[in-house]
Amino acid sequence: MQILNTLSRILEEITPRAGEGKTLSLYTCGPTVYAYAHIGNFRAYVFEDLLQRHLQERGFIVRRVMNLTDVDDKTIRGAHAAGIPLGEYTQPFKEAFFADAKTLRLLPAEAYPEATDSEQIACMIAMIGTLMEKGHAYQVEDGSVYFRIASFPDYGRLAHVDLENQQSGQRVASDEYDKEAVADFALWKAWVPEDGSVGWESPWGKGRPGWHIECSAMATGILGETIDIHCGGVDNIFPHHEAEIAQCECACHGQGPFVRYWMHCAHLMVEGSKMAKSAGNFFTLRDLLEKGWTGREVRHALISVHYRGALNFTMDGLGAARTALGRLDAWRERLTEKAREIAESETEAELPDPATEEFFAALDDDLNISSALAVLFETLRESNRRMDQVDEEKLTPSQARGLLNWLARVDGVLALEPEAVITIPSEVEELVAARAIARDAKEWQKSDEIRDQIASLGWLVKDTKEGQKITKA
Ligand code: AMP
Ligand code: ZN
Repeated sequence: MQILNTLSRILEEITPRAGEGKTLSLYTCGPTVYAYAHIGNFRAYVFEDLLQRHLQERGFIVRRVMNLTDVDDKTIRGAHAAGIPLGEYTQPFKEAFFADAKTLRLLPAEAYPEATDSEQIACMIAMIGTLMEKGHAYQVEDGSVYFRIASFPDYGRLAHVDLENQQSGQRVASDEYDKEAVADFALWKAWVPEDGSVGWESPWGKGRPGWHIECSAMATGILGETIDIHCGGVDNIFPHHEAEIAQCECACHGQGPFVRYWMHCAHLMVEGSKMAKSAGNFFTLRDLLEKGWTGREVRHALISVHYRGALNFTMDGLGAARTALGRLDAWRERLTEKAREIAESETEAELPDPATEEFFAALDDDLNISSALAVLFETLRESNRRMDQVDEEKLTPSQARGLLNWLARVDGVLALEPEAVITIPSEVEELVAARAIARDAKEWQKSDEIRDQIASLGWLVKDTKEGQKITKA
């Protein structure tokens, strides 16, 4: 598989590191949990999910880590305005993020480290300590610690910016800052009264980590000094990822680069501007679900444009997603019916047309989703045409089965299949009805006994305001 590496600006073949077998590590910058993530954020996460799923389809074992930024200026400001502790303020946004991720069918990461976790804070402090020892960092009068960009000549390589001007040693003439150079960034921010109860003790006094060091420490702490693939949206390239490289390559002891392949997705736009919280032009997933769209439709809308391509968000775009999914669902049902024409044991799935492999080959080409979807819809058209035939061209049940098998592989990558319809067995339905009667009569013991009986059949019953909710155990 080839991808466009932001660092080299060329297409590069993805290969695991020597001695790592088929394993690739993937670090993806996660949400800042000061508000609900908007679907612009989710464009980045859906692209990363497609990447992970396609790599897995190609036989790689992907170890993905996504951080949660739960301490920064915005989260502190939010907690302060709400008059509650930071952790209490960020918790509902963390929960909402995981719920939305599930609705959008994102595969779970191996770990979701949180910046406020004391173990992670210790890693950040250790990394800053190393940078101080090696002369890459310095402390200023207010106690804050800065990274000395002049000590890392490669700074600017990822973003392809010439920092000569910014590094010319000009001092910032401000009482607030005592930095050596304008572009130097904070590793440790000294505690100020506005931080309230937020702060950790460190060798440089009480304070909190800068955003960049959070990712560097969490990424290398969990995945090691060299990470195979690191992703984010284009706005992350500079300064965030540039700073991550500087910190890691200066602090780590190994020879390898911090990251081998950098991938960045273009922004989700709204009428020509980046969808952003600050611009007020955003939709959360919740907003769209309330308007009657489904997670699957939003996923389709976000996934169906190449990750580096311009994607303008519109309700028409969601409408197009609905239409496309409707066609896929109808085709899937038709194939399923066709495949049923002979008993399962009698039919061998026939391999589909070799051209269908082009779906995966297209994704090998830097996740060329447009070409992949073209293969999918061409296969749909052609097989529908053959299902309409009466002559020898007619699609056979075993060919239909072969196509369904292929579609299952496609689903593994796109994750756009319809929601599984869960049928509750009549035996369970009867027990649930009996339990409702027992509860109305306030026969609690009987109600509990029936719940146990339901559980022994492999179903869970939960009592909600709307009544009993049944799920598979
Ligand atoms: P944040 O919560 O602001 O740290 O952003 C989380 C992720 O969403 C980062 O990878 C950003 O690059 C990405 N992101 C933010 N806005 C957009 C957007 N409009 N389109 C695509 N990605 C975005
Ligand atoms: Zn990050």
